Amino acid sequence: MHATLPLLISTDFPPLRRARLETLQINVGYRCNQSCLHCHVNAGPSRKEEMSRATAETVIDFLDASGVSTLDITGGAPELNAQFRYLVKAAHDRGVRVIDRCNLTVLEQPGQEDTAEFLAAHHVEITASLPCYLQDNVDAQRGSGVYDASIRALQRLNRLGYGQDGTGLILNLMYNPIGPYLPPPQCALEGDYKKYLGERHGIVFTKLHTLTNMPIQRFGSTLISKGEFHDYMDLLRGAHSDANLAGVMCRTLLSVDWQGYVYDCDFNQMLDLPLCHAAKPRTRLSELIGVDLDGRSIRVADHCYGCTAGQGSSCGGALD
Ligand code: SF4
Ligand code: SF4
Repeated sequence: MHATLPLLISTDFPPLRRARLETLQINVGYRCNQSCLHCHVNAGPSRKEEMSRATAETVIDFLDASGVSTLDITGGAPELNAQFRYLVKAAHDRGVRVIDRCNLTVLEQPGQEDTAEFLAAHHVEITASLPCYLQDNVDAQRGSGVYDASIRALQRLNRLGYGQDGTGLILNLMYNPIGPYLPPPQCALEGDYKKYLGERHGIVFTKLHTLTNMPIQRFGSTLISKGEFHDYMDLLRGAHSDANLAGVMCRTLLSVDWQGYVYDCDFNQMLDLPLCHAAKPRTRLSELIGVDLDGRSIRVADHCYGCTAGQGSSCGGALD
């Protein structure tokens, strides 16, 4: 795979500073039942990296000390990690909002038969990847059979109350472009998703989030292979909007890797750009218990244009 950091590190992206911390986003490991082309963490079935119980306990200690309101759990497929249910239960017991970044197909994997019921019982908010509402596009990006399995999973989640009015069970879908272009306007695309999935499959969901593909990891490497990397960066840079700077997720989020090291965001984690703290090359989450990060500078590079291009992009969808 081609390295993208050398092409991104020299940057004219505007400086950013942290605001009050609201979300702890933890990557519990890179094991996944899928190997999607656009995956920015390079996840797959053969990856062995997994968060340990000791690190998971540090995560809970940090929640207790920081008063962070949201625990956002990502991977890989987070449900495959042995600590996943411990983390969900502990955060739920503390009244912390929990988000599971679910690929949907994992709900049909052996050993995951009761995962959907577990998520509903703990009021976990599900953000599920579905990069298109059409079968051919989903299967092209995520693998043959993924669309049908995703539809079955969404129907099952609906039966449990997810995405239904009045249940409080939030089911958001996440769209990202199939190729090197920006997402269309989120609001209009959400209408298209709701119409097609509702009429064709009887599926309801809460909101659609659009996410810009980052020029890093597998997607960035593919751009380099095809000679499209610089054109894609020109597209992102040309569409930059200063108005999006205030809303980028790194201002209110702390990202933790499977070993407990901290980063300003998941993308920086994948580029191995650790959070700057106490002049150390890298810092563990345990060292930030009791530390106020408000006002600290954020490590930026050219990939940050992926967050500020067009309508903006974050783990919560478009910014504007
Ligand atoms: S499902 Fe998500 S984590 Fe798994 S390979 Fe695809 S993009 Fe990566
Ligand atoms: S890539 Fe990360 S550090 Fe850069 S703007 Fe986006 S969230 Fe912030």
